[in-house]
Amino acid sequence: MNNSKTSELTRNALPGILGIEAYSPGMPIDELQRKLGLADVIKLASNENPLGASPRVRQALAEQMLKQNLALYPDGSGYRLKQKIAAYHQIDPSCITLGNGSNDLLEFLARIYAGPGRAVMFSDYAFAVYSLATQAQDADAVLVPAYPANHAMPYGHDLKAFSKMLGQRPDVSLIFIANPNNPTGTWNTPEEIETFLESVPPQVIVVLDEAYWDYQDPGLRPDARPWLDRFPNLVVTRTFSKIYGLASLRVGYSLSHPTVADLLNRVRQPFNNNSLALLAGELALEDQDFVRDSVELNTRERERLIREVEGMGLSVLPTQANFVSIGFGRDAKPIHQALLERGIIVRPMGSYALPEYVRVTVGSVDENTRFLGALKEILAA
Ligand SMILES: *Cc1c(COP(=O)(O)O)cnc(C)c1O
Repeated sequence: MNNSKTSELTRNALPGILGIEAYSPGMPIDELQRKLGLADVIKLASNENPLGASPRVRQALAEQMLKQNLALYPDGSGYRLKQKIAAYHQIDPSCITLGNGSNDLLEFLARIYAGPGRAVMFSDYAFAVYSLATQAQDADAVLVPAYPANHAMPYGHDLKAFSKMLGQRPDVSLIFIANPNNPTGTWNTPEEIETFLESVPPQVIVVLDEAYWDYQDPGLRPDARPWLDRFPNLVVTRTFSKIYGLASLRVGYSLSHPTVADLLNRVRQPFNNNSLALLAGELALEDQDFVRDSVELNTRERERLIREVEGMGLSVLPTQANFVSIGFGRDAKPIHQALLERGIIVRPMGSYALPEYVRVTVGSVDENTRFLGALKEILAA
């Protein structure tokens, strides 16, 4: 390639885009198999459901796949899936927008509400997509300091600090809150969130990202449904990628005031969900037994992981999600590497400014046992 010309290729790129460092996802299993010549690899790096997707969904999807005319565009309005979501949340379908994963919706919201001269507010250690979407719009990121390491909710969102900072930043047009947050697993109580929503001016959009809602203990799960009536500036996002085990198909949705849904519909591509994803979403919502089984497994195994890891003298961040973030009190990169060499993929947290931590997805019983065994071995070496 001719390198002398590459500056021409970036000269007219938008400044926000040039500032972005591309998101680095959890390593795929076959990449590690290829790299290290390992046959038996497990991935606990992307918060995927260890049970996979519901067997009922898989069966119905396989049957439909043979019947479908793949030459036809999908239903761009997502009518049937929206009807199901509407019934599930007791909300009007006009409040629902479908996305290619909920990531899609987070980007649409930034496209609508963020840009040069405007600011987007989110916490330190918050989900990486908030910062990526903000930069892509060339908007200012207002990073709210998280709770300190010695707080009861270390590195968690400090919503009082959000409110305070909001008073000083009239340029903020959009706020992202992840509850629970990824990569920390930390959460805010329903009371904290409600008090925060009451403090936000009506023209500022608040996105409550509930990707891990189902994994929370019932007493800690906010019921955002009545808030949507009280706070028209609230947008709630949900995904089929985590508890429903459909990450590969890319489907998520938002609940919002119909006016915001109308804006979202203007920026999304007309067919942003493929027909199998739409169908899978419908079927998945119907199988709440599978959701219950997934929650049960996660709750039990999350407790076991925390207990065992703490027993090894390591620290664990408080978590209400399907992952635990483990602190080693020193650079965790060598631990991450040693786990890879044993065929176990976890997520290092250096890119989140938490280099002493790794994030580990709660896997199946066998996967967790294998992870714990490997970790014990590595610490003893
Ligand atoms: C995984 C995740 C999402 C959603 O991912 P999609 O697959 O795009 O739906 C959203 N927010 C957080 C905090 C996540 O961890």
